[in-house]
Amino acid sequence: MKIPTVSELFEIILIKYRWVFVVLFLLPISILYTLYEAISQRLSLHIKGSQKIHDSLVKDIQAQIHLRNKTEPQRKMCTGRPGWKAMSFRAGKYKETFWKIDLGKLVNIFAIDTDKNLIWVEPLVTMKQLTTALNPLHLTIPIVPELDDLTVSGLIMGMGVETQSHCYGLFQHCCVAYDVLLPTGELVRCSANENPDLYYAIPGSYGTLGFVVAVAIRLIPAKKYVKLRYIPFKQISNLDRLGNEMLKLATESGHDFIEAIVYSLDNVVLITGTMTDEYVLEKMNSIGYFWKPWFYKHVEEILQSNEIKEEYIPLQHYYHRHSRSIFWELSEIVPFGNHPLFRYFFGWTLPIKISLLKRTQGKTIKKLYEKHHVLQDMIVPLSALKDSLVFFDAKTGIYPIWLCPIRLPSLPGMLRLQSGKEEMYVDIGVYGNVRVTSYQAKKTTRELECFVREHHGFQMLYADCYMTREEFGKMFDHELYEKMRRRYTCEEAFPEVYEKINICART
Ligand SMILES: Cc1cc2nc3c(=O)[nH]c(=O)nc-3n(C[C@H](O)[C@H](O)[C@H](O)COP(=O)(O)OP(=O)(O)OC[C@H]3O[C@@H](n4cnc5c(N)ncnc54)[C@H](O)[C@@H]3O)c2cc1C
Repeated sequence: MKIPTVSELFEIILIKYRWVFVVLFLLPISILYTLYEAISQRLSLHIKGSQKIHDSLVKDIQAQIHLRNKTEPQRKMCTGRPGWKAMSFRAGKYKETFWKIDLGKLVNIFAIDTDKNLIWVEPLVTMKQLTTALNPLHLTIPIVPELDDLTVSGLIMGMGVETQSHCYGLFQHCCVAYDVLLPTGELVRCSANENPDLYYAIPGSYGTLGFVVAVAIRLIPAKKYVKLRYIPFKQISNLDRLGNEMLKLATESGHDFIEAIVYSLDNVVLITGTMTDEYVLEKMNSIGYFWKPWFYKHVEEILQSNEIKEEYIPLQHYYHRHSRSIFWELSEIVPFGNHPLFRYFFGWTLPIKISLLKRTQGKTIKKLYEKHHVLQDMIVPLSALKDSLVFFDAKTGIYPIWLCPIRLPSLPGMLRLQSGKEEMYVDIGVYGNVRVTSYQAKKTTRELECFVREHHGFQMLYADCYMTREEFGKMFDHELYEKMRRRYTCEEAFPEVYEKINICART
């Protein structure tokens, strides 16, 4: 028998007893890291003259680009953010060889203009930072993607979806202007009126047109609570009704939030929410407190009762309702994480930093993930919902599945719709270990991608992409993107999006 090496032994322990490592080692580090981030973010909110500081940070970045242009103009550029810090399961191989431009200090909110209802932020500002800063002002951004650590520029570059998307579209559709550093180092502002071609080409360009150094995001009024209504659907024949009901709710006014959690083809809960300043005390549920059940587990209990239920949740708790359990991903790492004992004694240590989980996963866990784990968000027309769920069920068997309707406007750029008019789409979020034996990462993902393409849908760019360049070109409209690459001489400075996101380009 081959005696395992120390590192193999370490990995075997890591897999079998990953929860020990996570609970005893990773959680305490995660707490310190979160504390450090929270303090530095709080401090950054109170820095006076942030615009000045911002301008000087941008100058530093310009200097980095100029240096590269002078010394190694043939070497392509990318952001200096290490791969393990990003939310995507993968890290780009190009990080090892490209000229890295350090944007790491661009983490501040530097202006809130309540007259124009705009907030100006630097690209690495996170969703948690935004809700923490805006909540006391009774303001919010129209779309707040779920996980605390998602960054503004990451969501613009790779698409951002949330339960407000049926009203406002994707995250990029709430962004009214970008400041971009072009390959020459020139700073350009773009919006629907100023350099509109660049403005529409930036979303989905994955850092291949320039570096975004500031973003103006629309602000809307916020209320204190969300009144939630849970509607269980308990028969497979109801899947048609689910799609119709989702479309009806998404197109009528009065629903600020819509999502559905699919526990199996005949067990779905549709959830709608409306912002409100009033609440009924008996129906108040502050779900975000650490001792409370994980949100998807709470919803599952409502499903068992098979009755429509209403409750009130504080807005901030609602925005980050899936964060503690990373949707349902944490249940596979800490299986007892939702047990009341764990919640009461250790619940306050969550959410764990995804970046730390990634940093410490080791090769063996990574390989297992590659073989058996799916992390995909596919955006398909809402009319294809039932067929998509049946197809995903057959190919992966993964549950729960997250559904979120999206009103997609037909704008120029990567996501230009073939129909040429606004359409209601739905995000199908599949996260977890596969439950069917026929699953093979490459073959199955290609089948899913083909299904999505045939239905004129899109795959989120953070996910594993097995498409060929031609297939990718069919899914995403490259016309405006290529025009901008030529106009701003990006070919020498950056790879194409496909070259950054296809499976061979990532580790
Ligand atoms: C478990 C899980 C759950 C998720 N849940 C959601 C969800 O609820 N809603 C949702 O919308 N998405 C979700 N996502 C996906 C998420 O939207 C993407 O990962 C997205 O790209 C944001 O990730 P990030 O902030 O880590 O950005 P990064 O991965 O760091 O950035 C993406 C790319 O953009 C480029 N880039 C970043 N900053 C700049 C810049 N300033 N200038 C130029 N280029 C830049 C870089 O090339 C980078 O590789 C989820 C992902 C995971 C893994």
